[in-house]
Amino acid sequence: MLKPPFDYITYEVPVERVARIMLNRPDQMNAQDTKLLYELNAAFDLAAHDDNISVIILGANGKHFSAGHDLTETDYYHNITNYETVGTMCGFECAGAEAQMAREEELYLGFSNRWRNIPKPTIAAVQGKCIAAGLMLAWPCDLIIASEDASFADPTLSFGVAGHEYFTHVWEIGMRRAKEILFTSDFFSAQQALDWGMVNKVVPRGALHDEALTLAMRIAKKPRFALKLAKKALNGVHDAQGRESALNNAFHLHQLSHAHNLKLFDMLLDPTGLPEATRAALEKASQKADD
Ligand code: ZN
Repeated sequence: MLKPPFDYITYEVPVERVARIMLNRPDQMNAQDTKLLYELNAAFDLAAHDDNISVIILGANGKHFSAGHDLTETDYYHNITNYETVGTMCGFECAGAEAQMAREEELYLGFSNRWRNIPKPTIAAVQGKCIAAGLMLAWPCDLIIASEDASFADPTLSFGVAGHEYFTHVWEIGMRRAKEILFTSDFFSAQQALDWGMVNKVVPRGALHDEALTLAMRIAKKPRFALKLAKKALNGVHDAQGRESALNNAFHLHQLSHAHNLKLFDMLLDPTGLPEATRAALEKASQKADD
């Protein structure tokens, strides 16, 4: 079990009953590799299991909340075996599509669902870019505060993938907008996210963390068990709408996207749709892995 101090995450209790977790890989735009995700999961567990904590804030150090998954991570499949996995998947080192699916069910869909179900209110504080898997950290949180400079996108379709692994888009922004942002890969602004009901509040960049803390402190004064029950009741509404089946269906189509790209391009993504800088970084990483 990982414990603080972490390398890519900070964990603190800034005021009574509130835990604050910060992504702390600012030089890489808080890109999520295996280590960051396991550390983040351990930090969430720490806050979830502590009866003295009522509310959890998730923020990020640096200019951007998160650029998404770290596509340049080397030793992509093997390094997962360095960690204690928390789901029930196996086959992390098996051939074919099996390892990829296992990894994504544990680390991506599994973790995001796990964090969504933490029985305490969670608040995401988002600034700068929040791209693809960045949304997979913000969306599982119960409340989202965005700074005025925040912008969001799931551009996965441009590189041949049918949306990211935690497919709650329709519940976050509605069906028409989900189709629009997926089909176009366009960024949408904090103000649009507010208008669409995806974020609770937009604040100046300098006020972001104070606003999140103030909100957390107000909520933390409420009866803890009632907060837990209210969250369960609210999440249960989405569950009753078939959320789990819809997410599993999308996850398996996502796996088909990866398998298709592997056949066509010998990689998980369609490289023709990747930005030039990402493509170059990927080539560099694969050369490093071959060395
Ligand atoms: Zn994937």
